[in-house]
Amino acid sequence: MTDLIIPSKLRDAHAITLKNPWAHLIAHYGKDVENRSWMPWDGVHTLLIHAGKGWDRGPATAECIGEPHTSAIVAVADLSFACDTSRHSDTVRCGCGEWAMPGQCHWRLTNVRALRSPVPANGRQGLWQPTSQTLAEVAEAVRS
Ligand SMILES: [Zn+2]
Repeated sequence: MTDLIIPSKLRDAHAITLKNPWAHLIAHYGKDVENRSWMPWDGVHTLLIHAGKGWDRGPATAECIGEPHTSAIVAVADLSFACDTSRHSDTVRCGCGEWAMPGQCHWRLTNVRALRSPVPANGRQGLWQPTSQTLAEVAEAVRS
């Protein structure tokens, strides 16, 4: 058994499962806001973007080119800030940009690094902690 090499920045990373095309749009198309009905926990700074099995057949589907991966971690992002200004509003009243939806909390993502080789993992609800093995594979994928 080999030692798992996990950089300190990734050691406390949490993952969040999104349906495609949303995960794919974050990884490859500059979607820099994750809309959620709830605020992230304090202390979550590094977010692994996990593409779930499901597909959200929304209006963005047609814009999505390429072959989106499913059941895999597809990107690593910094969760720089979360905004709840528009949470109870039917308009967006903040400066979170074109991806921000009214009535949602806006998780602002920066420094998004798409993984050329996505790391297979099963998705879960909410924020979840990947196994050490998964984190080591993500670290390896970020390096390559
Ligand atoms: Zn906002």
